[in-house]
Amino acid sequence: MKAMVLNELCSLKENRTPLTPTDLPDPVPGDREVLVRVQTCGVCHTELDEIEGRTPPPHLPIVLGHQVVGMVEETGSGVSKFQIGDRVGIGWIYSACGKCKFCLSGNENLCKDFKATGRDANGGYAEYMTISEDFAYSIPDVFSDSEAAPLLCAGAIGYRSLRLTGLKDGQNLGLTGFGASGHLVLKMVRHKYPKARVFIFARNPVERDFARELGAVWAGDTEEESSERLSCIIDTTPVWKPVVEALKNLEPGGRLVINAIRKEEIDKDYLLKLDYPTHLWMEKEIKSVANVARRDVSEFLGLASEAGIKPEIQEFPLDDANEALFELKNRKIRGAKVLRIG
Ligand SMILES: [Zn+2]
Ligand SMILES: [Zn+2]
Repeated sequence: MKAMVLNELCSLKENRTPLTPTDLPDPVPGDREVLVRVQTCGVCHTELDEIEGRTPPPHLPIVLGHQVVGMVEETGSGVSKFQIGDRVGIGWIYSACGKCKFCLSGNENLCKDFKATGRDANGGYAEYMTISEDFAYSIPDVFSDSEAAPLLCAGAIGYRSLRLTGLKDGQNLGLTGFGASGHLVLKMVRHKYPKARVFIFARNPVERDFARELGAVWAGDTEEESSERLSCIIDTTPVWKPVVEALKNLEPGGRLVINAIRKEEIDKDYLLKLDYPTHLWMEKEIKSVANVARRDVSEFLGLASEAGIKPEIQEFPLDDANEALFELKNRKIRGAKVLRIG
């Protein structure tokens, strides 16, 4: 099969083509696994983190990609949930132990044996991949293959982040960073919490305009003071400045949820600007989001279809995966980038 393969970690500033087109043997489904013929695969900021070594794959070469939509082509022994020809989705969670207290309580995203699609196992920048049937999801018919792909990561982790904020209808929510996840969270909030008011912090004026188009009541630059204090804020940026700057906009008892697998080191000294009375005093909280559990993916797919949430997308052929990653790195973002494979 054709795949775009990561052979070694590198900086995207020095290497514009980190992935190499490669012919790999077709994978074979094991017990309770399905072989999926990939139709589309979303391009995620996490791929940049993998390539540049902030969340390095444990073995190389590896096929990246964890927002995969495809058709079941073949079933391994004991598969009962899916049949050949079914359309399935695959997200960031590839597998977990199934036995620990986290797995048993529905927080398998915290399992110490958590394995990620496209990092710990080959993912969807390829014509085929295999996955346990327990970690594949049915995709509601209302979504095209391209529309469904970004829902599987940006949407699902956005949903988990929103759950972790504890937002209630009528409260003010801030989003610092407005990429693929942010725009889906905004749409989700407008459906689920129609009286909540959403405030956007983004460096790029194009992203700010886009946020206003989608119904944000206020949009400003990262370090600006919002027009009202906020009950909670979700940070989806790869750096530290937005964390410090967001905290000053929280109301007493407010919560900042950081949705980033790793933060870059380039502006870490910004943390020295952290001022206890301005940023933390009055019982402000900071919480991180780690991965996604299966319920986040399946509940979000249901919510998105009910609410008519469809991501804005930009398609690339598989061969142009490097170009899509380069644009993402350089924040040329309007909606979510998706590789069309099948
Ligand atoms: Zn992702
Ligand atoms: Zn476990």
